Amino acid sequence: MLKYLWAVAALSLLVSCQSQVEDVKETRLLLGTVVTFTVAGVPEDVALKAITQAVAAMQGVENRFTTHGDVLNTVKTFNQAAAGEAVQLDADVDTLLQQSITYWQQTQGAFDPTLGDLNRRWGFSGDVAPTQVLSKAEVKKGLARSGVDHIRRIAPRTWVKDKTGIQLDFGAIAKGLAIDKGIAKLQYLGVEHAIINAGGDMRILGDHSGHAWRIAIRHPRQDTALGWLDISADTSIVTSGDYERFFISQGKRYHHIINPKTGFPAVQSVSVTVQAPTAMQADALSTALFILGFEKGMGLVESMPDVEAIWVDSNMLIHMSSGIKSQFHLMQKNRDK
Ligand code: ADP
Ligand code: MG
Repeated sequence: MLKYLWAVAALSLLVSCQSQVEDVKETRLLLGTVVTFTVAGVPEDVALKAITQAVAAMQGVENRFTTHGDVLNTVKTFNQAAAGEAVQLDADVDTLLQQSITYWQQTQGAFDPTLGDLNRRWGFSGDVAPTQVLSKAEVKKGLARSGVDHIRRIAPRTWVKDKTGIQLDFGAIAKGLAIDKGIAKLQYLGVEHAIINAGGDMRILGDHSGHAWRIAIRHPRQDTALGWLDISADTSIVTSGDYERFFISQGKRYHHIINPKTGFPAVQSVSVTVQAPTAMQADALSTALFILGFEKGMGLVESMPDVEAIWVDSNMLIHMSSGIKSQFHLMQKNRDK
């Protein structure tokens, strides 16, 4: 009996010790957005050290891929190069560019890493938000300077363009890669339960003191949640929405996700949330599926193992892939719509 009481006492001590390990939450400005790190299940000093290193890894990704600011990188070198000039890319950039071309192939060209010139003309990634609709002539010029067909890998890490003016832009995928690198760093330093949330794009590890993490999905038109997912696994959830960077002109919304077929902001969706094993996959696919819309995109999602998607279409109707229907909890008030 005494032995039994000891066991109970030891167990409750263990439980109370565990509950004393509180979540460590840190916020940083990174990747052009607010990034929140939540780490559970390890002492504060371990968590803080891991977060510091994750931040450094993520900052490294930003520096290697950004097309803004003063930092020098191989993406900028490639973008400035003339036709026929061979450029050796950073190993990460080389890998992500090859991956991006695979997404371009899989998404019928909806995901296009060569829209740099056109994106710059629209100006959504600049410091000052645009207010003017781009003229058709400008769109034509930007589209003429795009196209995966105009770039080629001629040797390991070495790329060349056949048309001066072609520019790379990893804005729709590099944030995901950064999140993955941040999570890898946390794991390497002993963290098993965490979330990295970069402006709504996240990767989740483990669980929260034995309970699922509750992940809210933002309502694209209201300052509330559309619904939520309960997650207790290593997975990523990324949302692309027309509410991130936009302006309204003559009652029409213009935003930063460009349909490469038209050169104008995509009109099929209002937001798309993707669940996939890595944040890189989820990031690329959320942008592509936004452009494709649910009618063209659903088949693709259903054909990809471990990928699920939730669309809010231009009529504010919700469409879900088969594997996420029973997992997604719609907020009561959104059900009536
Ligand atoms: P967010 O940056 O808000 O998370 P996305 O992941 O959807 O949103 O990425 C949008 C960014 O991707 C744009 O700002 C631009 O840099 C780039 N982009 C826009 N259209 C495309 C496209 N069709 N294919 C690939 N990248 C795109
Ligand atoms: Mg994306």
